[in-house]
Order: sequence, then C-alpha cells, then structure tokens
Amino acid sequence: MEKTAFVTGGGRGIGRAVVRRLAAEGCAVGINYLQSREAAEELAREIRQQGGRALAVRADVADRAAITAAIRQAEEALGPVEVLVNNAGIAQNDLFQDTPEALWRRMFAVHADGAFHTIQAVLPHMLHVKRGAIVNISSIWGLRGASCEVAYASSKAAVIGLTRSLAMELAPSRIRVNCVAPGVIRTDMVECLGEETISSLAEQTPAGRLGTPEDVARAVAFLAGEGADFITGQVLTVDGGFIL
Ligand code: NAD
Repeated sequence: MEKTAFVTGGGRGIGRAVVRRLAAEGCAVGINYLQSREAAEELAREIRQQGGRALAVRADVADRAAITAAIRQAEEALGPVEVLVNNAGIAQNDLFQDTPEALWRRMFAVHADGAFHTIQAVLPHMLHVKRGAIVNISSIWGLRGASCEVAYASSKAAVIGLTRSLAMELAPSRIRVNCVAPGVIRTDMVECLGEETISSLAEQTPAGRLGTPEDVARAVAFLAGEGADFITGQVLTVDGGFIL
C-alpha cells in the first residue's frame, strides 16, 4: 500500500537521501524546504519522472502556522501523512559563554519546537487510523557531550526525550516514534569543518570512514517501515562505531 511521507529539510543532505529512499520504497513524499527551493523542486521532479508522487513545500519548521499549512498542502496533493521524518536542522559551534540567547532559542525552535509542531499536525489522522511512524533525526551529540556545541547537543537531547516519552504515549494507538542519531555524515553541514578536520574525524571512526546521507536514509526507512513494527522509542546510532 502506498503511504504518504513528509520529510522536513528534505531539499538537500540527509533529508534528500531520505526522500529518495522513501520514494523508492513506494511512498508519496512531501518535501519541506526552507531555502533550498530549486533543489527541493528538482528532487520532486526527479521522483515524478520516475513514476512516483512528490510535492515540494516551503516552510520554517519553527513557525507553527507555516509548517502546519505546508503539511496540509502536501496532504491535499498526496494524501494524509502516515510517515513523518523530522530532519530539518541547523548547526553552530560556539563556546557556551559566547552563545547568544537568540542562537540558543533558534536551536530549540528548529529541533524541538519543529518536531512538536509537525507531530501535532499529523497526529489527529494517525490516531484516527491507528497507524503511523515518526522518525526524528537527533545526533550522537544528543547522546554524548559535545564541547562547543552545547546548544546543538542540548536541543538534540530534547528530541531524544520527546521520542521516548511520546513513543510510550502513542504505542497503544499503534503509532511508533523512533530516533536516528547520526555520527559524522558528509553533507554541507560538515563540509564547513575543512578537509583536515574531516580526515581526522574519519580516522577516529572505527569503520574508517565518514557516513553518507544514504547510510542514514536506510536506517530511517527501516524504522519507518513494517520491518520495524515492534520497535518504538529507540535511538538508532548510525555512526560507524564513533561513540562506542
Ligand atoms: P544540511 O544542512 O545539509 O541539511 C539541513 C536541511 O534542513 C537543509 O535543507 C536546511 O535548509 C533545512 N532546514 C534548516 N532549518 C530549517 C527550518 N527551520 N525549517 C525547514 N528546514 C530547515 O544538514 P544535514 O547534514 O543533511 O542534516 C540533516 C539532519 O541531520 C539535521 O537535523 C542535523 O542536525 C542532523 N545531523 C547531521 C549530522 C552530520 O554530520 N551531517 C550529524 C548528526 C545529525
């Protein structure tokens, strides 16, 4: 049966790989983007050319009215969302004492509030049909400490707390809530670290390489799919052994 999925921040990086993977598995996909309009629309076209269904919709996940409207727009075109992937994210390195309040608030607004808004938007339908899968993208830094990334790590830890508690609350309604915690994945988000740091991170990874967006997308698709029917409230690290 074809399901409708909605992926936030789906225009590039990990989100784009998740969109492609879910589409390949037969989902119609709502692709949310904030700035990457060209990339998101190109991705939607690519999926349609391959016989799938997809729609790119713009919204800031931190803006409750805007992201709710974007989800409704996708649902009108594609059908009610039964797979939600909260992937939109931002990163910033700062000493804690230099972290501006606005940055602290933005981290929580995008990562924690964003998931709160999208989940509340899709939940009434999921509760009605007693079916649904939610996958939140956290980070290994939401599980472990990360110097100079206190705001990022704290907001990603909030996503893990949300995942576990909501999984317990929704399990009786047969809605599963899981989390993927990527390690260092080669996307625009880590490109800014520079070649030297990137090579050293690859060396520190037991698997001997950095992750790819596709590595994460496969884990997301597994948790979203029927193969994970009895799995809820879990945090699956995809990090080549980085935090073992
Ligand atoms: P990326 O910067 O390439 O992609 C992030 C996407 O989210 C972009 O398309 C961006 O426009 C979108 N976005 C940002 N803020 C948004 C907002 N307010 N509303 C809507 N969209 C928004 O980064 P990525 O590496 O693909 O990261 C994807 C997710 O994975 C993020 O949540 C990130 O924190 C997480 N993650 C990444 C890594 C990594 O090493 N790349 C590691 C751990 C976790």
